[in-house]
Amino acid sequence: MQIAIYTRISEDDEHLGKGVQRQEQDCRGLVTRLEWSGEVSVYKENDTSATRGKRPVFERMMADAHAGQIDAIVFWDSDRITRTPREAEDVIDLVTTRGIKVIGFHGDDLTTSDGQMLFRIKITVARNEIDKMKRRIRRASDQRAADGQMAGQTGYGFKRLEGGSVSLVPEQVVVIQDAARRVLEGASLRQICMDLQKRGVSTPGRGSTWNTTTLKQLLLRESLAGLRRHRGAVVGELHESIPRILTVDEHERLKAILNDPMRRTAPVGRAPKYLLGGIARCGRCGGVMRRAVGRMTTTKSGGSKRQPPSYVCGDCYRVRRKQADVDALVEGIIAGRLQMPDAAQLFVTGDPIALAEAQDAIEAIDARLANAADMFAAGDIDGGQLARITERLRADRARAAADLEAALPGAVPADLMGDAAAETWAALSMDSKRAVLSTLVTVTIMPSGSGKAFDPATVRVDWRS
Ligand SMILES: [Zn+2]
Repeated sequence: MQIAIYTRISEDDEHLGKGVQRQEQDCRGLVTRLEWSGEVSVYKENDTSATRGKRPVFERMMADAHAGQIDAIVFWDSDRITRTPREAEDVIDLVTTRGIKVIGFHGDDLTTSDGQMLFRIKITVARNEIDKMKRRIRRASDQRAADGQMAGQTGYGFKRLEGGSVSLVPEQVVVIQDAARRVLEGASLRQICMDLQKRGVSTPGRGSTWNTTTLKQLLLRESLAGLRRHRGAVVGELHESIPRILTVDEHERLKAILNDPMRRTAPVGRAPKYLLGGIARCGRCGGVMRRAVGRMTTTKSGGSKRQPPSYVCGDCYRVRRKQADVDALVEGIIAGRLQMPDAAQLFVTGDPIALAEAQDAIEAIDARLANAADMFAAGDIDGGQLARITERLRADRARAAADLEAALPGAVPADLMGDAAAETWAALSMDSKRAVLSTLVTVTIMPSGSGKAFDPATVRVDWRS
């Protein structure tokens, strides 16, 4: 007699004490009690959920049974051998069409029609329970996302306190912020991993070694910037009680750098520049306003739609205003003021020639950095050469950027004043606009009222003396 014992371990078995070992012991005990003799083969399935995924061992056993290699099957409980009505019918078929004895340790006896009926009922009820549980979990998880609560696992950098609120793990926050800053400055993931390893910093996962994949996944996690991911998409922001580790702006820049295949080895951090990002202040807390991508919102018809980009306070997150509205207002005010006859008084003298030189230098360096990355990607130079080239170029770039900074505030083209002011302003590079703007004014974005429309009075533009 060929006897098959089928055991299956699943997620919650460990703490329920239903280990696969115990299932097998029980089944062997049943074989002895039934006084069956013959060769026993154990089909041991190791899966994580009763209804998800494939069960190759179960399928192999069914195939063996159909091939005439099995005379009897012993299983532990009905929810071990199958949990879908269809699989239950397949098992019952073995009895009715092939005469195979199928017996369960917990009293299932599929060799009788009463036993078959009970087996069907048990499977149906179990199936129903699973469906109910799934619906419950799904509803709860939708609700958590809608409330801006974190998903079950808070992940590296955060910890869940008793009572459910989320707080930061300071030493992990330092690791994340430091790594993010270095990536934005152009360091490679590999270099950062080596440094973390050398310093003996423990990893987010189970392993003891930092690797670039883990670090990349960690840095790209939306929750670091207070964004809530749900069912594969960012659906909004986390509740404001959950602290942020990175700004949305930093998150976007990290994404741009780390997802760019050409920059994989030696990404060059280049911050996208927006007129008032890092310049405008929050009227509520005095924090610096950052430019942020639009939130995803749900439309009345149930679809999702991305809101336009905005400036948002990087400190309190309570003040937010549509970027296009603020930019248009501030640019209008500045261009208007520059057209007035006394506009020249607004500026201290600068060095336009040094500015142009520094800008040219930066452009040339960026082109060479990109070129080096291309050569590396094409196999013309090796990683060591690339590292040496980029290290040198980055030092050059930092110097040129400092020159640019020094030449900037006063470096205003003559025709930025008077009649052509608006036109000249519009033609300025974003760097120049930002420099001129911060020379001339401070911009403060005040909390808005309840109204939906943009109120220009909520953006304060103050002229510097
Ligand atoms: Zn604020």
